[in-house]
Amino acid sequence: MTDGTSSPVRLARHCLGLLLHTLWPVACPVCGRLGQVLCEECLSSLLTRQIPRCLSCGGPAPCIDHPRSAPILPGAVYGGAIREIIHRLKYGRTRALGPILGRGLAGLHPRPFLDILVPVPLHLQSPRGYNQAEAIALGLGRAWRIPVRGLARWSCDVPARTRLSRSERRELRVEDFVVAPDVRGLRVGLVDDVCTTGTTLSRLASACTAEGARVEAAFVVAHVPG
Ligand SMILES: [Zn+2]
Ligand SMILES: [Zn+2]
Repeated sequence: MTDGTSSPVRLARHCLGLLLHTLWPVACPVCGRLGQVLCEECLSSLLTRQIPRCLSCGGPAPCIDHPRSAPILPGAVYGGAIREIIHRLKYGRTRALGPILGRGLAGLHPRPFLDILVPVPLHLQSPRGYNQAEAIALGLGRAWRIPVRGLARWSCDVPARTRLSRSERRELRVEDFVVAPDVRGLRVGLVDDVCTTGTTLSRLASACTAEGARVEAAFVVAHVPG
């Protein structure tokens, strides 16, 4: 398939790709293009505007039961290549994917009127040394020029969500999050990598609201259909 560019340009791109690959041995996990953590074409084909979810119950938004609830805005349905990419990001093999996914998500929406972005915090007992939600938030924040503030933390040693059943996730309590009082009076956007039932985001939103913030939306890379 041709991309419409002339062959000298393609050759130059190919040579540049090889050079980058030598210096920085990576390849786009979707199309295999050398020297790219995730190429622009694959990023824009992976992320598209999805049906918003209700931040109160995780159902489709606008929600009849929670008409005033803020939306969860996913950029993909969890599965296939996006699942693989999130896995690579999450388990640390390719951390640079986080800001790239964040930038891709930012491109799906007009810049929101937010004061800060708050990533879902890393579990206290997580063996991973970095937070993938924060990495995504940094990409969003950079694109939109909105500061990222890690103002939330888990209040106790809650097991990682991947080890909880759907019903256990629904039982997470508001007190599972502690949010710094700095959020008072701010318009907040929450950020996470994956949204399953929406319970984690809903609880974090409640904890932010309890501290006097206004949660306007939650941005997630992918939504897992129930
Ligand atoms: Zn690609
Ligand atoms: Zn709802």
